[in-house]
Amino acid sequence: MTTTKRLNDFQIAEHFKLREFECPCCHCIRLSPVLVERLEALRAQWCKPIIVTSGYRCPPHNVQVKGAKKSLHMIGQAADIVVPFNEQSVVEVFARRAGFTQVIPYGRRNFMHLAVA
Ligand SMILES: [Zn+2]
Ligand SMILES: [Zn+2]
Repeated sequence: MTTTKRLNDFQIAEHFKLREFECPCCHCIRLSPVLVERLEALRAQWCKPIIVTSGYRCPPHNVQVKGAKKSLHMIGQAADIVVPFNEQSVVEVFARRAGFTQVIPYGRRNFMHLAVA
């Protein structure tokens, strides 16, 4: 096993590393354990690796990406993941079943926003 010294580069769940949820501008993180638990539950149903495109966002980054003013990304309770357009309806069902309370498909932009309240 090789050891990396890169910050946040370690497993926090069976299929996720902490660094996947970093804010891209400052590498800071706030992360709800419930969010990670539900992403694992979603993965188990979908049977595909989950690619997180946006996890935690610090307030300036949230402004930069034009996120909602009270975005749950800023408190570590939301993640955007890659989902091809033609799989979004089935993933929506899985996500609800996994316990996500916000499930927003972005159609042909090929991603979905998932959050826990
Ligand atoms: Zn940041
Ligand atoms: Zn989002």
